[in-house]
Amino acid sequence: METYTNFIDGQWVPSQSGRFTDNVNPADTREKLGRVPLSTTAEARSAVEAAVRAFPKWRDTPAPVRGAIVAKAARLLEERKEEVARALTLEEGKLLREARGEVQKAVNIVEFLAGESRRLSGETVPSELPSNFAYTVKQPLGVVSLITPWNFPVCIPAWKIAPALVGGNTCLFKPATLTPWTATLLVRIFQDAGLPPGVLNLVIGSGGEVGEEFTTHPAVKAISFTGSNDVGTALYRNGARAMKKVQCEMGGKNPIVILADADLPLAVEATAQGAFGSTGQRCTATARAVVEAAVADRFVELLLERTKRFKVGNGMDPSVDMGPSVDEGQHKTVLSYIDIAKRDGAKLVLGGTRLSDGDLAHGFFTAPTIFDHVERSMRIAREEVFGPVLSVLRVKDFDEAVEVANDVPYGLTSSIYTNDAAKTFKFIDRIETGITHVNSPTMGGEAQLPFGGMKATGVGSREMGRVAMDFFTELKTVYVDYTGRKREGNLY
Ligand code: NAP
Repeated sequence: METYTNFIDGQWVPSQSGRFTDNVNPADTREKLGRVPLSTTAEARSAVEAAVRAFPKWRDTPAPVRGAIVAKAARLLEERKEEVARALTLEEGKLLREARGEVQKAVNIVEFLAGESRRLSGETVPSELPSNFAYTVKQPLGVVSLITPWNFPVCIPAWKIAPALVGGNTCLFKPATLTPWTATLLVRIFQDAGLPPGVLNLVIGSGGEVGEEFTTHPAVKAISFTGSNDVGTALYRNGARAMKKVQCEMGGKNPIVILADADLPLAVEATAQGAFGSTGQRCTATARAVVEAAVADRFVELLLERTKRFKVGNGMDPSVDMGPSVDEGQHKTVLSYIDIAKRDGAKLVLGGTRLSDGDLAHGFFTAPTIFDHVERSMRIAREEVFGPVLSVLRVKDFDEAVEVANDVPYGLTSSIYTNDAAKTFKFIDRIETGITHVNSPTMGGEAQLPFGGMKATGVGSREMGRVAMDFFTELKTVYVDYTGRKREGNLY
């Protein structure tokens, strides 16, 4: 069984902490995948110091040369797609086909952002003075910390590491403790692509220890975090106090709005895939179906029919449609929200139980669960479950649908099913989410487009797309006076 090691200053070094947890397959807890070190604060600090030492040379490496290394990493990731996807399914639990999709998306993102190294341009702007040249230039920040969750353990690190490196920063990467294997494979790819020592450092350990050091060390100039609101809020607050640049992408409670004129079979398929795909553990998962009353009975009937066909099991089995929760803690959270919803008076119409027949007894499986007649004030309608639980909220018309869709603290993604062009554009105007879809599911996102949320979901700036470079660079404004004379008039 592999014991994962840290990658500091270009070397794979075992942690000396003497403390470990097991990396366990959530679909079958009898299968131990590896030993996860709980590295110490001192080990995290040595990674910070390596990143500080590596920075000047990396900063001075021309951006297209940095980009060529990142582009090579994209090619290696593509070559190793199957190996990475299998590790992802085994340690996180998503289906192998979903894992392959995640790795391919990571390839696309890294490839796209490598290209940004040749477009890392500022602006030239006319000066109001004669013989003056005014322009902007994007420069590296320095050492940046990248703190990532377990639910997309390839894609999210990739969409932070690639722009950070292209931007000329040196990186501290702390993956979720639950997904050290994929993190290790990803970092090895960047090493094999030719990154100099110290430019990308990986330390495996707890948020409280490694994460704390990576986010509070004075040498760290910026923190890019994806994860829960509890952790993100604290990081944002502490980062602001220390004048660090902070970007946080956090929870969601994404709505799919289904109007009376919608293509119902299409909307039902999107809802089922959005709610139960990846076990509802996508940040873009569909958590709420907001349905116009006129079609609600028919919608629920079709949705039940479709969802009953979902086969739950081990993601390595190609006939399976939905895998397990990632660990016992997440599984308990899902089951406790099911109890809360029942107590609050939501009508359970499907699932609602742990699945434990045969081999399922060894994993963290829940039946796909649907609550109907959910009221917007109920906790199940407002709080993130991060599991295969869908709430159906019935509304009288379009205006109420938009109001209900917006009536949560979060704002990551949304979707509307309708063929009414005016309502579609009104929805786009009024919906409070960073991403919205028309006649397509709440999930999905392409490498070349920005990704991120509004309200309690996101602060900082968007990830992916060209704008990803904004967070990882500092903008410098330059005035060059080539008159060769003393300037006349006011200097303001
Ligand atoms: P989490 O518990 O907040 O953990 C995220 C990362 O933060 C992990 O690496 C964690 O380390 C680390 N961490 C914990 N405490 C820390 C501290 N005090 N200082 C620094 N780092 C610390 O979130 P999660 O359970 O892994 O992920 C699920 C959440 O992520 C959900 O809320 C989901 O909506 C959100 N998410 C959002 C997006 C988006 O783009 N909006 C995308 C994906 C996921 P440990 O693993 O060691 O605890």
